[in-house]
Amino acid sequence: MPVTRRKSVVCDVDGVLVGGHHPIVVQSMTNTDTADAASTVQQTIALAKAGSELVRVTVNHDKAAQAVPEFVAAVRDAGVTVPIVGDFHYNGHLLLKKYPDCARALAKYRINPGNVDIGKQKEDNFRTMIECAIEYGKPVRIGVNWGSLDQNLLTRMMDENAKLAEPKDAPEVMREAIVVSALRSAEAAERFGLPHDRIILSAKVSNVQDLTAVYESLAARCDYPLHLGLTEAGMGTKGVVASAAALGILLQQGIGDTIRVSLTPRPGGDRTEEVRVSQQILQSLDLRSFTPQVTACPGCGRTTSTFFQEMAEEIQNYLRDQMPVWRETHTGVEDLKVAVMGCVVNGPGESKHAHLGISLPGTFEEPKAPVYVDGRLLRTLKGDHIVAEFITILNEYIESNYTRQTASVS
Ligand code: SF4
Repeated sequence: MPVTRRKSVVCDVDGVLVGGHHPIVVQSMTNTDTADAASTVQQTIALAKAGSELVRVTVNHDKAAQAVPEFVAAVRDAGVTVPIVGDFHYNGHLLLKKYPDCARALAKYRINPGNVDIGKQKEDNFRTMIECAIEYGKPVRIGVNWGSLDQNLLTRMMDENAKLAEPKDAPEVMREAIVVSALRSAEAAERFGLPHDRIILSAKVSNVQDLTAVYESLAARCDYPLHLGLTEAGMGTKGVVASAAALGILLQQGIGDTIRVSLTPRPGGDRTEEVRVSQQILQSLDLRSFTPQVTACPGCGRTTSTFFQEMAEEIQNYLRDQMPVWRETHTGVEDLKVAVMGCVVNGPGESKHAHLGISLPGTFEEPKAPVYVDGRLLRTLKGDHIVAEFITILNEYIESNYTRQTASVS
């Protein structure tokens, strides 16, 4: 079923348009020390090359703020244009004021309303950050997180709730406090002079059901673009599945204009995985296309050798490795669908639904592999070179269907 996107205003983040009917933006965040400009440059470039369309870095102390202009310049010198967002907590008002070159170099400021004015009656620090955003012409993300929710607001709302004839339960009040914190902060930002279309909101929690409830409420009560993410999603399979479940529910309802998957990498692990997971979530929902998709069956007792798994992996890796080149030379190749199936039970049927498909011989089946192209049997492969021959067919298909036409000069 096609998704109807929620209507929102469009926020321009240094040329990347977030909201409205613009493609849902994939973003990520570095985990290097921002003061270590060399490492941060390297990781930012890696994230951008993996497909991150916005990259956020923490700006948590003087040395980090001082490093930002140099680091952004080095990223640009490498030919990478990705907008770089500064993530501020506690002291953003001080750093933005003290380091104007940092304020200028960043494309957007993330403000956490739960920790920018701790213990203060007035929103002075928040106001200072908004005034910097206005002065330097930057949009902001007002990013609420339940781990750092404004405790004054929560206490007030809990007290008011307790006086009701039929009080709501505490989790419900907390979810409402998250939404109210985001909306009131956005209201305040506009009151301080920031234009309506310079604000993106997020309200992150780490539980799938709470996250969907919070965003459904937020989406119904404002037209700011929404940044989706399950915060602290966790490691490995848990993080991937929980993020996909949460974001899938919301994206299918048309909620969400930019997404980040907050995976905890293994020590020394690859930070770009979070970008690939975000892309896969969007592509699985048919919301965007990034890379050709391989449909493969799980295998069963009919695939007792590892040949089938190896072939599926080889094709998948081949497509992924070629994509940086094809992206420049072959228009629309990211929509290609390839099926690699373990036997003839579902193989030909699934192959016919793909642009190209191959059914390998299952155990005790005749050693031949029918190849389908655009729903028709093209050829049957046999022997020891099935993978290479299939890749040749794949390349020919891509050349004849996706090669970019260059305008002829008369
Ligand atoms: S297509 Fe064949 S090998 Fe794959 S899961 Fe189905 S029956 Fe098993």
